[in-house]
Amino acid sequence: MKIAAIVFFLTLIASSVRWAWWRSSVPGLRVLCYHKIGRPPAGSRLKELWVSPEKFRLQIKYLLSRGYATLHFSDLVKARNGGTPLPEKAVLITFDDGYENNYLNAWPVLKELGAKGNIFVVSDTIGKANLWHDPATEPWVNMATLAQLREMQASGVIEYGSHTLSHPRLSALPAEDAAWEISESKRRLETAFGRKISAFAYPYGDGADVPALRACALGAGYALDFSFRQGKTPWPWDRDASAIDRLFIRGGDGLWDLALQLSRGTSRL
Ligand SMILES: [Zn+2]
Repeated sequence: MKIAAIVFFLTLIASSVRWAWWRSSVPGLRVLCYHKIGRPPAGSRLKELWVSPEKFRLQIKYLLSRGYATLHFSDLVKARNGGTPLPEKAVLITFDDGYENNYLNAWPVLKELGAKGNIFVVSDTIGKANLWHDPATEPWVNMATLAQLREMQASGVIEYGSHTLSHPRLSALPAEDAAWEISESKRRLETAFGRKISAFAYPYGDGADVPALRACALGAGYALDFSFRQGKTPWPWDRDASAIDRLFIRGGDGLWDLALQLSRGTSRL
């Protein structure tokens, strides 16, 4: 009996270190951040950025069954400009980079279940590969082609944001090169999709905390900019204060992690 009690408390402590159930829930906008939907190739050092199609489907089903309303970037812009409230359980599903596996494995699920998604595209790599990674540590995989991206937009399921031209660390570039990455990617995506591109995500989150780079992104005409920081962002959003934070879904996460992220802004210590 005594041993059982000790085991119980040790388990409780261990799981409380792994899962932040003990945090209180925080208000704010929920923006999920995914990368690749599929199985990591041999040699991937970034396995946690791959979420299996089965898990992805369960997560989207979970959101919808719990009454979450999935939004597009344009819904967020409209609400902000019009001063209208967001649905109480609003959530944005975002994907970084624009992989072909989003087209193959995520879009069909979103379409079937009736959810909206948003993809931050690296415009110079459309139809190519994740060229910014060193293939020795993260294998190159296909990025979605322009035809695939257009098909997803035409379905009404997916909207796009910019993730620069080439996925650089913006703060490491000369200011005029960083400005070009930010503004020229917007222009090219608008030409490619015939729509205003109103959202920007800083590659690696680099620049989201640099006032000059934020000013550059907002000055280029993006209504929304997104960081790579874990958390929820108070809404209405104080745009001058900070970029919009996100909730990172890892390959190993379960629905319990998702639930904690949505309510607490994190599932971990
Ligand atoms: Zn990225």
